[in-house]
Amino acid sequence: MAQLSDDCFAFGGPMMSVGEAVGLITTRVSAIADLETVALVDADGRVLARDIAAPLPLPPFTNSAVDGYAVRNADLPDSAERALPLDGRIQAGGLAHAAIKPGHTARIFTGAPMPPGAETVFMQEDVRLDESGRIVLPRGLKPGANVRPAGEDIPVGQIALRAGQRLLPQHVALAAAFGLVRLDVVRRIRVAVFSTGDELASPGEPRATSQLFDSNRFMLMAMLRRLGCAVSDLGILRDQRNALANGLKQVASSHDLILTTGGVSTGEEDHVKAAVESIGSLVLWRMAIKPGRPVAMGIIDGTPLIGLPGNPVASFVTFVHVVRPTVLALAGSLAEPLLPIPVRAAFTYKKKIGRREYVRASLRRAQDGALEAIKFPREGAGLLSSLVETDGLIELGEDITQVEPGQGVGFLSYADLL
Ligand code: AMP
Ligand code: MG
Repeated sequence: MAQLSDDCFAFGGPMMSVGEAVGLITTRVSAIADLETVALVDADGRVLARDIAAPLPLPPFTNSAVDGYAVRNADLPDSAERALPLDGRIQAGGLAHAAIKPGHTARIFTGAPMPPGAETVFMQEDVRLDESGRIVLPRGLKPGANVRPAGEDIPVGQIALRAGQRLLPQHVALAAAFGLVRLDVVRRIRVAVFSTGDELASPGEPRATSQLFDSNRFMLMAMLRRLGCAVSDLGILRDQRNALANGLKQVASSHDLILTTGGVSTGEEDHVKAAVESIGSLVLWRMAIKPGRPVAMGIIDGTPLIGLPGNPVASFVTFVHVVRPTVLALAGSLAEPLLPIPVRAAFTYKKKIGRREYVRASLRRAQDGALEAIKFPREGAGLLSSLVETDGLIELGEDITQVEPGQGVGFLSYADLL
């Protein structure tokens, strides 16, 4: 478990910027040290636990990059084309038994090892046969052309994959190219997920007229799984201090993180704060972010707790800025800063200085080819349709007070957030 101190999320300022929140999380949350070994086919999305130095060079041997004809550099045509007799044929996976004879060329195929002595390959499209069956090579080819030297991609011994790397398909490919069968990865971060609120019914259960189906829990669990977490679905806790406290206390020792949604505002029926304070410690972060209201950060028996707001869009946005960095820190992942891509605003917007805002937007290709962001027409933090019908979030920094059509803005695609 993470075993954090009770005051580790305490913060002095009145309003916390998104940057301060991420900074506090990344410095205070320590990585879990437990490892496990997984087969290569199961490694996608996992966090690599150790550096991997290349056990062999890539490519492992010098080979031809094309289908063509291999020659010694000493035999390259100089002022005019040159006809060379054929000597030998090397297929991919085959072996060049003998060195290429001076004044000869060898038929060679893509990926086949270069015969000893040969240093350059002519593409088959660039040569022709003469009457006596010799290969006529054009002049002007650079020595060494169309050859892939051993180690040109990665030399043996180089650190090729870093501990903390969240593995993508291309990282798995590299491990396979090294001939590795299994990888040491950080064990999955165990996250307990609760929704809170008397107004919630679980899908599949009867719903009273004044209830709505709990959607946040399923959104948050899906987001956590995309971050590689092992999720415990702990259902709905009712707006009751003792029930909340008991529910949270029970799961603390068996999880690395507790995530709740709802009940963290300051209304009388927001009981998460009091419940956590009765069994652990809690601070409310008033984050300078919209959508998003206070986010609760706490510690129960050394295990961190994050309480997200109940409004679905606020829950989504604060997940990205508080839960995502926490999970990455627990897994010891390398920093993965979110980098908005520049697009052109096709909307007008006014905002308060000093807080960061996220505007739900769709992208379209404008007449001149530029990418344009269209703002979702409504702004409520409860509108699930606004997340479903858009492509991502326009990030408007603390200093911005308004956006005019044509202005450059930064866009974060939903696809890049997890
Ligand atoms: P709260 O943060 O508890 O004050 O809730 C704010 C709003 O979000 C209320 O309208 C709730 O009904 C709604 N809400 C809270 N939890 C959920 C949930 N799990 N799924 C969908 N909506 C929720
Ligand atoms: Mg509530």
